[in-house]
Amino acid sequence: MDLYEHQARELFEEHGILVPRAEVTDSPKEAREIARRLGGRVVVKAQVKTGGRGKAGGVKLAADPAAAELTARQILGMAIKGHTVGKVMLAQPVDIESEFYVSYVLDRAAGGFLAIASAEGGMEIEEVAATRPKAVARVPVDPARGVTSAKAGEIAEAAGLPPQTVDVLVRLWDVLVREDALLVEVNPLVRTRQGRILALDGKVTLDDNARFRQSRWGAEEGEHHDPLEATAAAKGLNYVKLDGEVGIIGNGAGLVMSTLDVVAGCGARPADFLDIGGGASAQIMADGLSVILSDPAVKSVFVNVFGGITACDAVADGIVRALETVRLTKPLVVRLDGNNAARGRAILDARAHPLVEQATTMDGAARRAAELAHSA
Ligand code: GDP
Ligand code: MN
Repeated sequence: MDLYEHQARELFEEHGILVPRAEVTDSPKEAREIARRLGGRVVVKAQVKTGGRGKAGGVKLAADPAAAELTARQILGMAIKGHTVGKVMLAQPVDIESEFYVSYVLDRAAGGFLAIASAEGGMEIEEVAATRPKAVARVPVDPARGVTSAKAGEIAEAAGLPPQTVDVLVRLWDVLVREDALLVEVNPLVRTRQGRILALDGKVTLDDNARFRQSRWGAEEGEHHDPLEATAAAKGLNYVKLDGEVGIIGNGAGLVMSTLDVVAGCGARPADFLDIGGGASAQIMADGLSVILSDPAVKSVFVNVFGGITACDAVADGIVRALETVRLTKPLVVRLDGNNAARGRAILDARAHPLVEQATTMDGAARRAAELAHSA
């Protein structure tokens, strides 16, 4: 899960990294009050989980509380790369002397972490890396050793950062470890004209596998942009919304991924996918079907099951019982293969629902589902 800038800022502060004084609000009127409390002049910043806010007009300086209210009104509701701004953060402006980039990121291939740092911060690091690769230092970090002062010194030196950043680099590592993050990024980390080092922006991605011990972030912050994904998540379903027209239900991540490919190979686009995993209960089928059918973009549904531990007759039973509670409004193409496939097919044949068709091969079923979606 990604955190908002203001949440990252809070973590930095807790770990002793200097940040500008700031407050968050969703109301322009309150923005004026906050600006007054912060001394009048403020930077108004859109709180969205994407970078490049500055370029998109989501970071603006306001000279006084009245301007802060006006600016907050402009920025709230704005769309930045598809993210609607629900809150703004108002921060005390900082007199910047230089801007740096620092981050720690999990490097799965190397089985460790990577410190990435540059004395050319502020702009997008991908851009710096593309145009002047030498300006970006990459230093592997052994997770068992972590970032000690010596390691931080090595990183700072490799990137040409001033020695005062060493302390911040150590603390930032602490944020990563203590908060179960996969990524922490500060861009820009700045040196002020007064010589202080401050984190002016923050991006933190938490490890979802550690959610149970990072419960303070809750789920209320809208990590599911899509309302159908939110509904599905509330029902405990593994559902992902895409933007095509064929709904996909399968068992197991591997089969579901190849089903997406096969459907795409037939010239159709997957509208979403639902992985029913090893469980094919009527409840999962009913919940899954109702989520998929409620999506107006879905024109046909492809159920692709290869019975291994899950028996196809159990899946067929699940479908039949789901049809008792869910009104099928779109054609359903079912391909059952593997464990108890013949019994499963017989169960669906016996039910003889006019909108349910069966296919014996994955390719055939995908072609049929694509055809039905296109003729809908
Ligand atoms: P991003 O565009 O989403 O990465 O948003 P940032 O928070 O990084 O802000 C973009 C840029 O705005 C920064 O690189 C700074 O140059 C500038 N900026 C942000 N806060 C301040 C501030 O307090 N004072 C000054 N002078 N510039 C700021
Ligand atoms: Mn930034």
